[in-house]
Amino acid sequence: MLKSHGYAAYDAATPLRPFGFERREPLAEDVHIEILYCGVCHSDLHQVRNEWGGSHFPLVPGHEIVGRVAGIGGAVTQFKPGDLVGVGCLVDSCRTCPECVDDQEQYCDQLVLTYNSHDRHSGGMTYGGYSNRVVVDQRFVLKISERLDPAAAAPLLCAGITTWSPLRHWRVGPSQKVGVVGLGGLGHMGVKFAHAFGAEVVLFTTSPGKSEDARRLGADAVVVSKNAEEMTRHSGSFDFILDTVAAAHDLDPYLTLLKRDGTLCLLGVPDHPHPAPNAANLIFKRRNLAGSLIGGLRETQEMLDFCAEHGIVSDIEQIPMQQINTAYQRMLKGDVKYRFVIDLASLQDDH
Ligand code: NAP
Ligand code: ZN
Ligand code: ZN
Repeated sequence: MLKSHGYAAYDAATPLRPFGFERREPLAEDVHIEILYCGVCHSDLHQVRNEWGGSHFPLVPGHEIVGRVAGIGGAVTQFKPGDLVGVGCLVDSCRTCPECVDDQEQYCDQLVLTYNSHDRHSGGMTYGGYSNRVVVDQRFVLKISERLDPAAAAPLLCAGITTWSPLRHWRVGPSQKVGVVGLGGLGHMGVKFAHAFGAEVVLFTTSPGKSEDARRLGADAVVVSKNAEEMTRHSGSFDFILDTVAAAHDLDPYLTLLKRDGTLCLLGVPDHPHPAPNAANLIFKRRNLAGSLIGGLRETQEMLDFCAEHGIVSDIEQIPMQQINTAYQRMLKGDVKYRFVIDLASLQDDH
């Protein structure tokens, strides 16, 4: 086994602290990665606090991992030591079901998540990227271009692909009006991608102070969602709205902004359900209410290659591992500009 260390939640109520554990010895298909950076997703916080139920402690979060290949198993053909690579939310799946065959592994019933899942090989749990190293099957490892800043590329592995996948699936492009709700980790990537795809982008925020940033990131207009009059001005005008809010809220004000056949796609997974929307708001203009989960490996690689070509990365605030608990407090207040990324070199400061 490979001795590893990182930061874990030991229960749902106390701050994260150092944790020593073991990872599996690399198998034939495995890539051993020394982790450089890991983004901090709101899903980490939901699971650290067991807001979705099913958290196993100690829990090492982190699924926006960028690192360098330190070693490879005998059957690995896609990577070599020294390569810059990424790992997102998935580390294994069944590989034979219709979802896996369609390159939509994120919808596989036997999906193995990067942390808080059962590791089929070690028999223990999977542990995430708030740690010094990770061992992952080559099929679930992504190539990261040396042209990208590795710290700012880390959030592409979840925030990036989670917004990219629905924008592509619903074919967002020029001549469309697209809304993004919430300017956090996911939201700011949604704004960047929708803008890059040529859409007219409107950001909805509860934080008036984020307006200038939103425009710099690619929004054509900003609406403060608490202002009912500003909201009504956009009634019936949107083709597509991506909702990234991490808390339960009323969906009707957004549904009424959609055109006939428009789609409101939910990405946030709050601890309490949203109130059920008014059926009339769906029926009268045949509107769609949908959801989307991260993205498959193939489209994640496409997204990373697009980002390398177009110079797209996340806007980040780099933190040492020791500041993770403060970062969570700030995330709860919507005070993230626009993704925290942990520099794992800081783990050495604990020794
Ligand atoms: P984040 O960085 O904390 O951003 C969420 C944003 O939502 C905030 O910055 C804030 O933006 C807005 N917001 C408005 N009211 C809020 C409230 N009461 N509480 C919290 N946020 C509020 O979070 P994130 O990492 O982007 O993740 C967003 C959600 O998506 C989380 O629930 C996460 O678990 C989920 N997620 C889903 C997937 C998926 O596959 N579907 C993948 C990753 C994450 P303003 O200040 O602009 O209002
Ligand atoms: Zn995430
Ligand atoms: Zn499958």
